[in-house]
Amino acid sequence: MELYPGVYQISSLFGGRNLFQYLFVGDNAVLVDTGIAETPGKVIFPYMDQLELKPQGLTLVITTHADLDHQGGNDAIKRTSPQTWLSCGEADRALVEDPKTLFDLRYNHLRKDHDVGLDLEFMPLAGKTRRMDLSFSGGEKIRLGDGWELEVLHVPGHSHGHLALYDRKNKAAFVGDAIHGRGCPKAAGGLAIPVTYYYVDIYLSTLRYFEGLEIDVLYSGHWPVMRREAIRDFIAESRQTVELFDRVILQNLERNPAGLSLQQLIEAVANAVGDWPKDSWALAMFSVKGHMDRLEQLGKVRGVPGSRPFKWQLA
Ligand SMILES: [Zn+2]
Repeated sequence: MELYPGVYQISSLFGGRNLFQYLFVGDNAVLVDTGIAETPGKVIFPYMDQLELKPQGLTLVITTHADLDHQGGNDAIKRTSPQTWLSCGEADRALVEDPKTLFDLRYNHLRKDHDVGLDLEFMPLAGKTRRMDLSFSGGEKIRLGDGWELEVLHVPGHSHGHLALYDRKNKAAFVGDAIHGRGCPKAAGGLAIPVTYYYVDIYLSTLRYFEGLEIDVLYSGHWPVMRREAIRDFIAESRQTVELFDRVILQNLERNPAGLSLQQLIEAVANAVGDWPKDSWALAMFSVKGHMDRLEQLGKVRGVPGSRPFKWQLA
């Protein structure tokens, strides 16, 4: 779908959710995100073909953040078009470059203490090991044409190196999965999975940053296109969700002085939110763990010594 002149949203479905990549065609051709391993061959290249663009015409590919549905196609693109430069946020580089590192350090690093994680059978979706040609830390500008550029924004919270792209000329922001509302929707309506931000204070500062940016239209990795008031509501709902988590977690710990495990806290939060599908609850491990880390730093909770799985209680 052409969003506005020279800018395209490439769309497919992944696990019932929309999965979007964005293509900018000016003096340079820039692709934002590459989907899962099969997305370039099945979706991105055929779409470019309709525009009479060859994969070899891609100047730059930007992976907004370390996740299998955003980085999985990097290897397929580089194999087809070796001259295309691959890039991502510097702080996500190790995770984006290697699916095994992604699973070890992002999806399964809580398994040992908390018995939660993502099955290794999903690893092929993340594609193959592929080095980045460059990395961004935010503040860079990518030229698309005279008076038209993409500004690279560093918007961490969901991951440390998360990037967004801002087209100031058109007041359009391409934010990947930087903002979560109260979950990620199914394409057909309703929620598909919980919020998966991780670093809570950093996430809140990213929300504030977006509120200060002049954005007429917001494009993301999975959420519907949003304009003005809808953007404000989405960010407000994101902040309210953070507040709800803290409230529910502290209330439940108060009722359970012996402590609660990560899975028990996920259940409490999921029941309070009310409409995350039950088979997706485990994905709230990131956000709930992020809240527990923050509450621990604030001195409000502490670990129960020797507990397995690990439990927290009020401090
Ligand atoms: Zn995503």
